Amino acid sequence: MRKLLFDYIDEPHLNTLAVYERRGGYQSLRTALAMSREDVLSSLMDANIRGRGGAGFPAGRKISFLPKGDMDKYLVCNADESEPGTFKDRELMQKSPHMLIEGIVIAAYAGGLDRAFIYIRGEYQLQGDIMEAAIAEAAEAGYLGANILDTGISLSLVLHRGAGAYICGEETGLLDSLEGKRGNPRLKPPFPAVEGLYAGPTLINNVETLATLPTIIRMTGAEYAKIGVENSTGTKLVSISGDVRRPGNYEIELGTPSREIIYGLAGGPPSGKPVKFWFPGGSSAPVLTGSDLDIPYDFDSLAKAGTMLGSGAIIVADESRRVIDTMYKVAKFYAHESCGKCVPCREGTNWTQKMVSRIYAGEATPMDLDIMASVQEQIIGNCLCVLGDAMAMPIGSLIEKFRPELEAEIEAARAAAGAAPLDDVVAIGVASPDWIRWSIFWVQLVPSRQGTHLPHDSWA
Ligand code: SF4
Repeated sequence: MRKLLFDYIDEPHLNTLAVYERRGGYQSLRTALAMSREDVLSSLMDANIRGRGGAGFPAGRKISFLPKGDMDKYLVCNADESEPGTFKDRELMQKSPHMLIEGIVIAAYAGGLDRAFIYIRGEYQLQGDIMEAAIAEAAEAGYLGANILDTGISLSLVLHRGAGAYICGEETGLLDSLEGKRGNPRLKPPFPAVEGLYAGPTLINNVETLATLPTIIRMTGAEYAKIGVENSTGTKLVSISGDVRRPGNYEIELGTPSREIIYGLAGGPPSGKPVKFWFPGGSSAPVLTGSDLDIPYDFDSLAKAGTMLGSGAIIVADESRRVIDTMYKVAKFYAHESCGKCVPCREGTNWTQKMVSRIYAGEATPMDLDIMASVQEQIIGNCLCVLGDAMAMPIGSLIEKFRPELEAEIEAARAAAGAAPLDDVVAIGVASPDWIRWSIFWVQLVPSRQGTHLPHDSWA
């Protein structure tokens, strides 16, 4: 596998300026600053790199959206890596912080910005400390601050630590948090490129995206675009976890068959059991099954398969895993992290968690699955930000792909709880259509039984 970001990642002390420079660090910045802003931007556009944080928007075009002229403009690096299963930015910042700083200065130069922030999640204390030390070193060496490398270009870079909220990874929630407010997503438009931090035009990019810019400048955008596949250029860091022999971060060329990543790099399930389902892009992505392993791992192929590349986090579940357990963990996580600003997300995540609990408690019927699927449909596209969708998409896909297993779970849990057999319940429903209507109210009003076993270990 070709390595661009992880080429020297395990070299001892790569986090220090001396070792980073010995490996050619900051040469791309010197190259970029010798070019015009327009040429740097044009090289980034040629590279056609899509954002590595989740949305996959072309990074060069994002910079080009910034208005020209003399005004307060900002660059914000989103280092609030909180999508479950994603831990690649953490490794990049911990082992090669100067690569990120170099990318930030290049992006700021291309966008004509002189103020930048790194918003890092609060739990990344070690990585935050390493980044702070690297920022100080870079400033001391003249790569940051006023008059960078005697070019007349200036950039201040400040590291800001978050307080542990998933929603602050959403770009506008992040901006509110950076401004010192509660991290609530904003209504868009206006988009951050027009009105972002402190109401000024703001460029927001993910750590991996920015860390790739020195490579693009070194190779030229046109050469970088030859790696990967059309519309998914370059390499991508993927975090693999769950039922695999060798979990961890891997750099892959976009377009690599998913089987090669899950089995070739990560070794497949240690139990030897087949893959049952897997999240291709963090816990927010609709799941794929064991029969989807030959799908190329790139933006368009995954979208065609009804899911998404997202943050590049692959979570694998083998045949021993119960779908209901994964549904519970997903629903519980998003119910907890919902900011509560809009009803479909606030209520939908909460009720989905309760409805899954009803299955465990032996209180559900197959109709609960229909209601739950309908709740997910009502959430998708009806929220201010994508957090609601982030629960609805995987839950909806699990219900769709594993309905027989979920019906068997319902039946088994009812038998264990001493509830009426499903055949009797269906007979009552047929005899009395009103029963169906009232049972929907019942679903909403009766709390789940206490003391049922709920899962609390890994995601898969
Ligand atoms: Fe808040 Fe959820 Fe609405 Fe996003 S979708 S703004 S997290 S309530």
